[in-house]
Amino acid sequence: MQGEGEYMAEADIDDLIEIIEKENDINKIPTILPMMPVRDIVIFTDMLLPLFIGRKKSIRAMEESIECDRYIFLVTQKDSDMEAPKPEDMYEVGTIGRIQKMIKLPDGRIKALVQGVAKAKITEYKQTRSLFRVSVEILTDAEPESIDIEAEALMRNVRENCEKLLSLKGEFSGDVGELLSHIDSLGKLADLVASNLNLKIADAQSLLEITNTLDRLYKVNELLTRELDLSTVQARIQTDAKDEISRNQRDYFLREQMKAIHRELGESDDRLLEIEEYRKKIEKCKMPSDCREESLKQLKRLDQMHGDSSESAVIRSYLDCVVSLPWSKSTKDDLNIAKAEKVLDTNHYGLEKAKERILEYLSVRKLNPNKKGQIICLVGPPGVGKTSLGQAIAKAMKRKFYRISLGGIRDEAEIRGHRRTYIGAMPGRIIHGIGQCKSKNPVFMLDEIDKLGADFRGDPSSALLEALDPEQNSDFSDHYLNMPFDLSQVMFILTANMVDTIPSPLLDRMELIELSGYTHQEKIAIATEFLFPKKIKDNGLTRRNIQILPDAMDKIVTEYTLEAGVRGLERQLDKVCRKVAHQMAQGKKGKFSIDAKNLDTYLGPPKFQPDLDQEESQVGLSTGLAWTEFGGEHLYIEVSLFPGKGDLQLTGQIGEIMQESARAALTYTRTNQKALGIKKEVFENNDIHIHVPAGAIPKDGPSAGIAIATALVSAFTRKKVNNKIAMTGEISLRGRVLPIGGLKEKALGALRAGITHIIIPEKNEKDLADVPKLVKDKVEFSLVRDVSQVLELALEDSSEQGSEKNSRAKTDKKTAKKTSKKSGK
Ligand code: ADP
Repeated sequence: MQGEGEYMAEADIDDLIEIIEKENDINKIPTILPMMPVRDIVIFTDMLLPLFIGRKKSIRAMEESIECDRYIFLVTQKDSDMEAPKPEDMYEVGTIGRIQKMIKLPDGRIKALVQGVAKAKITEYKQTRSLFRVSVEILTDAEPESIDIEAEALMRNVRENCEKLLSLKGEFSGDVGELLSHIDSLGKLADLVASNLNLKIADAQSLLEITNTLDRLYKVNELLTRELDLSTVQARIQTDAKDEISRNQRDYFLREQMKAIHRELGESDDRLLEIEEYRKKIEKCKMPSDCREESLKQLKRLDQMHGDSSESAVIRSYLDCVVSLPWSKSTKDDLNIAKAEKVLDTNHYGLEKAKERILEYLSVRKLNPNKKGQIICLVGPPGVGKTSLGQAIAKAMKRKFYRISLGGIRDEAEIRGHRRTYIGAMPGRIIHGIGQCKSKNPVFMLDEIDKLGADFRGDPSSALLEALDPEQNSDFSDHYLNMPFDLSQVMFILTANMVDTIPSPLLDRMELIELSGYTHQEKIAIATEFLFPKKIKDNGLTRRNIQILPDAMDKIVTEYTLEAGVRGLERQLDKVCRKVAHQMAQGKKGKFSIDAKNLDTYLGPPKFQPDLDQEESQVGLSTGLAWTEFGGEHLYIEVSLFPGKGDLQLTGQIGEIMQESARAALTYTRTNQKALGIKKEVFENNDIHIHVPAGAIPKDGPSAGIAIATALVSAFTRKKVNNKIAMTGEISLRGRVLPIGGLKEKALGALRAGITHIIIPEKNEKDLADVPKLVKDKVEFSLVRDVSQVLELALEDSSEQGSEKNSRAKTDKKTAKKTSKKSGK
């Protein structure tokens, strides 16, 4: 290193060596030269390039080159990371360079300017230890003697491609074009382009090794074309990215400008603020991406419209609806079963089966939250607590509660919304309800599903099915919204008074929970424990102000209400409390005690008499039992005979099915005329009138068959029908008594009407298990198989005219089972 420093000082006092040689005579180049490995570059002939030399061996080679007339052999090493390459780590073909300038830097490295002079190949390594010294063989290019058309075309192609590439990179200048057009040697053009192409080392080296200049230029052109393609694509990507950024900036500036224009015009910023506000709300909603896009599209339309146009009002209310929906908001379920049970119990008396079923439902939900839901449907007469059970479920689960009534809905659009093309279009009730709840998982109650209609405006039940069915409700589509909304988290609870009229596709997917009417005792308990305390509070009273004594409570239930549920009872209690509140507000003091005697001062005279309306047994009048959506009811069947030609007249609350029952009963009477002790002429000489006096509720069903038959036979035989007996059963032409439905409700209804003996079909014996024990204790049930048994039980012996005894009926009386003794106790 010492020597090196001295040499540098000798060579140039200012540490700078500048040697200019006009011509490099190839013949004067020594055949043995110091060699310097270079990394990351392949040096071509005529290339002038600066080098930084730091490796010891290389510095030596530089020093040594002075001895060789500044010639040095430069060869590329195959792996550029290698610090001390060996002969096998280097390519064989390289370039002989001549040092033009050399500076020794303070840190010991050398900076040199070297010009490629000739291409050469290593024939032998002479020295490898302290420096590389090699003997070389000069490779001369095989240039064609004259340039033919092919070569000319190729050169032109290369020049043009070069210009294009430089233009793409924005580096093209007239000088470069000039320079390229002046080169008329294939080899020189190839080397010049290659040295500026930023080629991979392997590609560049293979170019260097091609001595046929035409071939070399072909190869250069190929690499040049590839580079051009690459750069074109790169440029396009770059432009796209720039475009995107500049569009955003442009939009921003335009918006700002628009604001400024509005301000200039004296218009307020309100509209712009409104648009901005909507934009923010849409982003905040976190709705699915396609819904978001649709909303932004509508917002854009709004932006382009005149702010006061009617259409902009339509879009505004649409956007209001969209952003008010709880796209991503839901409440956290509380599925603590013990707590849920407590909530249900504190709000409801009895209803064990329903409560148990609800708790089972919640338990399953707790264990498997993803179970695709059953839809619960609570069925029962009005006022038995269906709605309040739904509310209790929501309370127990800590979910929001929403309720809509479907009664009388005939238009599909009520469920699924109107298309936005209509003026005044609105979303359907379901989407509206969800919007009101502000949570996507409320308990959603759909009341009166059995009252749903269908007409030319579409079938609401099919729209409803889409909303309820767990298989398809994850993207329920509302016509107004015009985008899918996920209803799968909603817990739907339906209610109905009767099952028969529920559309069957809906019924299919439901889990029915039946709630039946309450007995007298249950009503008293509900009134005392739940309804009365609630009403006291509602009316701003306390226990110190009012009390209802048990006899009064009893009277309210029996004489002021006649219903399966407790809604009327609740109203009466409310009335009592209201009256007391009124008196207190007028300044009356003390505790108001209500008993059976003073009750009518609060509630007026009693509305219902518990005793049978028919004071005594009569001919041609029987009591039947019907089941209506309001619970069980008793009904009277009246039959009158008057001179005529045997015609049958039916009047009153009679539907088609009941008419058929009446005809069947008449046929039975006629065919068994002899056994029943009726003279044949009676049928021919009399017209028959069957009448069912109007109760407020139309009743229809086959279960009045035996009651009609009894009234008919009674009219024909003039025997009275026992007024304490009610009956229910369908009749066949042969006189068989066929089973009926709704026994429990009918029994409760009968008890309410003061009936103590009920005749029922034998086949309904199994249903007695459902009848509350309280009812069984008070009512006697007789099971019958045949109408003759009914007649034997119901007709009294003493007839108005006195008639013969029917021997067949007599025998059958023994076979009729009295079950109350068997099952009641
Ligand atoms: P439905 O929906 O079946 O017509 P509701 O749920 O509206 O009946 O009930 C009417 C009223 O009766 C409500 O105030 C309710 O709390 C009350 N109610 C009904 N059944 C019971 C019960 N088993 N225990 C306590 N209150 C009851």
